[in-house]
Parts: sequence; structure tokens; C-alpha cells
Amino acid sequence: MDIICPHCGAKSGEKKFVDNFCIDCFKRYIDVDTPAAVDILVCRHCDRVKLGKWQEKNANAMGEFILKQCNVHYDTAKAKVTEDGECDVSFTIRAKGAIIEVSEHVGIKFVPTMCENCSRQSSGYFEAIIQLRGAGDAVEKMRDKMVAILERETFIPKIDESKRGPDIYVGSRQAASELIERLGLKPKISNKLHGVKDGQRIYRTTFSIRL
Ligand SMILES: [Zn+2]
Ligand SMILES: [Zn+2]
Repeated sequence: MDIICPHCGAKSGEKKFVDNFCIDCFKRYIDVDTPAAVDILVCRHCDRVKLGKWQEKNANAMGEFILKQCNVHYDTAKAKVTEDGECDVSFTIRAKGAIIEVSEHVGIKFVPTMCENCSRQSSGYFEAIIQLRGAGDAVEKMRDKMVAILERETFIPKIDESKRGPDIYVGSRQAASELIERLGLKPKISNKLHGVKDGQRIYRTTFSIRL
């Protein structure tokens, strides 16, 4: 004998039932708590977005970030950021022995701001200087290689070109030191006290490299 859905009157012979309800009405009892919209900080200067940390805009990473803001106990979840900058999310949820798929729509609100890199850059901040010295050709090649990599990881407020060779100013000491190590270079390192901030001594590091 057919069960009749107490909510909409559908018959169990005609569609899928979970418990005493048809699948559609049963879905309404599942608590899918998704936000109407998720705020994502976007840097007005470099157009990167903050998804935990600052990074390039990427649909998959934004989808993951939005799923984390959804308060849903799901088995599996998918998120697809659409062209118009919104996000379709779908969850498979196990309930009463059935696997139910629920889709929702989450808006994305881009909140313009300035990332740490850009705000430091605009204030002339830097932590390290890489000095390249040696014969012209090798120095130029190394400078271009370093700048290309450093620009992805930090920022370069300026490059001083003197007769002795370029001084590359670098936003992050760590990025500079890691790059130099990765390239197998042996720098002469000197630290200069720049000032004191919040009781901490601030050093600027110069890495002098002879090629
Ligand atoms: Zn129903
Ligand atoms: Zn930025």
C-alpha cells in the first residue's frame, strides 16, 4: 500500500520516500544552514583575495572557503563559483538511511581593502636588501630571476641601480633569505638596527652576493 506524504500528498508509489515523507518534503526538515552571502576581502591594489591567507583569485579556493562558512554536516560537498561571482553549493547528506542531495546558492560579497603587502609597500616598508655584485651579464640575469620570484611572494618597493650593481629592496626578510638559499648562493649578511617598535628591535638585513 502506498504511503501518502502528509505534507504534499504525493504517493510512495510515484516518488522516492524517506520515512513517511516524500524526498522533497523530507529535504525541508534537514537543517542546511548556509549564509545568504559570504564576505571575501579583496585588495583594491593587487586584486588578491583573503581566504585564510592572501592569495590570487581562484574559483576552487574561493569555493572551499565558502563551504567552510556553511554550517552543514555533510558527507560530501561541492562548490562552484559562477561567472557572475556567486556560488552554487551542493551537499550530500546522510539522513534516516537515505542519501539526500541539497543545493543552495550563496552570494559572494567582495569587500575592498588593502592587503598587508600593499599597505606596507605603499608606506615604503622593507625588511631586506639584496645587493648583487659582479660582472654585468650574470648580475642582470640574476636580478631579473630574483625579481620575478620575489614579486610573487612579497613585494619590491624599489631597486637601486648603482655602478657597483643593483640593490633590490625586499618586503620580507624571510622571502629574501629563502630565495637566496634555494638558488644556492652564499651571501654576506649584515643586520642593521632600524628602530624599535612595540619594544621589539627592528632589523634590516642586507644580503650581499658576489656572483
Ligand atoms: Zn511531500
Ligand atoms: Zn594587495
